[in-house]
Amino acid sequence: MALWYYEDYIPHYRLGLEIKETLFLGNSLYQKIQVVDSYLYGKVLLLDDIVQTTEKDEFMYHEMLIHPALLTHPQPKKILIVGGGDGGASREVLKHPVKKVKLVDIDSAVIEISRKFLPELGNWNDQRLEVLVEDAVKYLALSEEIFDVIVMDSTDPLPSGVAEPLFSKEFFQSVYDHLSEDGVLVSQIEPPFFQPEREQRHWESLNMFPLVKVYWGLVPTYPGGIWTYMIASKGKDPAASFKKLSFPTRYYTPEIHRAAFALPPFMQERLSKK
Ligand code: SAM
Repeated sequence: MALWYYEDYIPHYRLGLEIKETLFLGNSLYQKIQVVDSYLYGKVLLLDDIVQTTEKDEFMYHEMLIHPALLTHPQPKKILIVGGGDGGASREVLKHPVKKVKLVDIDSAVIEISRKFLPELGNWNDQRLEVLVEDAVKYLALSEEIFDVIVMDSTDPLPSGVAEPLFSKEFFQSVYDHLSEDGVLVSQIEPPFFQPEREQRHWESLNMFPLVKVYWGLVPTYPGGIWTYMIASKGKDPAASFKKLSFPTRYYTPEIHRAAFALPPFMQERLSKK
């Protein structure tokens, strides 16, 4: 009998994946964690029944989350990743000549399970990477460190979830205060079709930055397939910071970077109303 997994946390929307088997299922202190082996997307990591990443399309998300931000800062040396326990975001950051990457994820179980079942996602042995198991809100509140780029790769801000405080105005102010002069913040937001109120809230919470832009990319397993990111810069314009990278990529190119900031009218209209 066929075995199906359905993601249905967005009202009136369902994503179905036929799976071969469940490789891991358990509960950490913070969330339900699951790894399944699917026919079309390979291994899939789920948290609280929501797809976080899949073997087949993770590069699309991680390359687009990281490279535009790392190219926007003129000399990114110190990077903070908020969440990112699957390792994909830090793997992409470590392809740049950075000096230090701090990954702060609240849940050690996500890190352990990702390392075990999705080892190709991370570059865990790179000496420049420091992994801290902590709530990023508390971490930043107590830290005096300054970063060039802060990447938010957290779970979605569901009302009951651990990620909710990461999307508050106070947290974004704290992020701003921990960024260097030309500092850059990048965060994934919602698909442009569903839950536009989240984009709105995010946009308004970032008004301390002189420059905030939305860009988009494709991630087939995220709801709607089109994904959006918000990038805030104290210095350079992210839309104009495209560049040929010195390492191979499978999604990012300077042309894709430029095109990602060209928003279709239905996205642009929403932003101009704000
Ligand atoms: N790209 C993914 C997505 O949006 O589908 C996110 C991947 S990553 C696995 C998300 C991580 O954020 C999880 O490992 C989770 O533990 C972490 N996280 C959630 N709330 C957090 C918090 N307050 N502080 C630090 N990490 C947090």
